[in-house]
Amino acid sequence: MTTYTGKASFKGIAIGRIAEMKKAETIVRREHVEDVDAEIARYHAAKEQAQQELQALQEKAARDIGEAEAEVFEVHAMFLDDFDDSVENIIREQRINAEYAVATTADNTAAMLAAMDDNPYMQARQGDVKDVADRVIRDMNGGGGEANAFSEQVILLADDLAPSETVTLDKSMVLAFVTREGSTNSHTAILARTMNIPALCQTPVPKDAEGKMGIVDGFSGSIIVDPDEATLESYKKKLAEEQEKQRLLRELKGKETVTKSGRKIKLYANIGGIGDLNFVMENDAAGVGLFRSEFLYLQSDNYPTEEEQFKAYRTVAEMLAGKEVVVRTLDIGADKQIDYFKLDKEENPALGYRAIRICLTREEIFKTQLRALYRASAFGNIDIMFPMITSVWEVQKCIDMCQLVKAELKHQDIPFKDCPIGIMIETPAAVLIADELAELVDFFSIGTNDLTQYTLAIDRQNQSLEKFFDAHHPAVLKAIRMTIEAGHRHNTWVGICGELGADPELTEDFVNWGIDELSMSPSSILPVRKIIREMD
Ligand code: PEP
Ligand code: MG
Repeated sequence: MTTYTGKASFKGIAIGRIAEMKKAETIVRREHVEDVDAEIARYHAAKEQAQQELQALQEKAARDIGEAEAEVFEVHAMFLDDFDDSVENIIREQRINAEYAVATTADNTAAMLAAMDDNPYMQARQGDVKDVADRVIRDMNGGGGEANAFSEQVILLADDLAPSETVTLDKSMVLAFVTREGSTNSHTAILARTMNIPALCQTPVPKDAEGKMGIVDGFSGSIIVDPDEATLESYKKKLAEEQEKQRLLRELKGKETVTKSGRKIKLYANIGGIGDLNFVMENDAAGVGLFRSEFLYLQSDNYPTEEEQFKAYRTVAEMLAGKEVVVRTLDIGADKQIDYFKLDKEENPALGYRAIRICLTREEIFKTQLRALYRASAFGNIDIMFPMITSVWEVQKCIDMCQLVKAELKHQDIPFKDCPIGIMIETPAAVLIADELAELVDFFSIGTNDLTQYTLAIDRQNQSLEKFFDAHHPAVLKAIRMTIEAGHRHNTWVGICGELGADPELTEDFVNWGIDELSMSPSSILPVRKIIREMD
């Protein structure tokens, strides 16, 4: 078993036998010619034939793959038009054969494109120039030589794949593309994206991989040649999960999260930064239920300014285009330490100086974040949520701080919205006083990760306690139910944003207990939507 790593140009997993692409060899010899006019005419005849073929390929590609991808053949025809002057000049001046003149022109053009460092798209077109030159040369020699027939579905391996080769391939037989050269801008990559199959480029797989079993992992950008049994089994499982996800995507994207009897549940995504937004869209989340804002602080080597934070929150609000985004204020301490905060070493960090406790003692940090959040609120639909609440006074203090910030912004004529305010329910204390807390806020979001830790008195970081860690412990489930009921007694909507929110074994219970929102990692959204849509 050997792993070769390159660049992934499209993600996904493929398992199958590896087949090397058979190239139609174009051997070009330099030969002296007497009648240069006849040679130039021979070039033009072949060029005309090539142009007709390109036209036919363009039509086939438009039918099979799509208009955008078919445009590459128009690009080929344009390159070919630009060949004339150089080819004719080489034939006339050097009195040599048209094949050699075409090959030389293509080499020169490719060298020129290779030098275009500031234009990766044009650099990636070198293969196209050679491809079109090969076509003309083949046509001068009677044409043919493009067939690649496979008897089973294969992982297709090649140095590089020319667009004309990919178009003439029987695509139903290709599980993945792996090229030793090429770029993520190449047509193979574009084709792979269109076909929705994994593709790797710049991956140094040796020729003797031909015929062996392979696993293409388009997530890590690698191919495993000759995998052992355990690896094969684990990838088969991953592949099945991927296929199920794809199926759900096709089936459930754009559909509502609603039970058969018409109860709608807000299915939101948890994100840790702006980079996760594409997963939110891809998995069709109706909003963001937990934006862990600490990423801004963790990524920085000093306190992020109001302006920096404002830009980040504004981006999220705008990208979500009016969908609800719940931003949780700074939650550091315990497992998330940041040097420039200079927090003292603690005996029990999980029970120590963390989250809202830091914000309520270092008010400048808190105020800066709240100002950034309120300023960004004018650009979308932001909710503000406070973590690690245990007491009513803490929530009251947070609300007072929000009032202060809003008054300041109003005074400065800076636009903002009156964002809904929520708290995380992640301590047993908060569960027990949920009725009082609900009076103060618009929503609760249950942080089951910490709620489990504090309810079961079990360190969520300590792997060796696994045996004592019961994710479905009746005390945790009871706490969740109590929180939902308390919230509803006071018109406060209740969601779950801890890991348990995505647990498929509990979805039905949560819905039956009245949960209003479930927020989870984006990849869990469609599987959970499926469960809810099948519920009565
Ligand atoms: C939680 O505690 O459940 C939660 C969502 O917050 P975090 O995991 O960031 O502590
Ligand atoms: Mg937490």
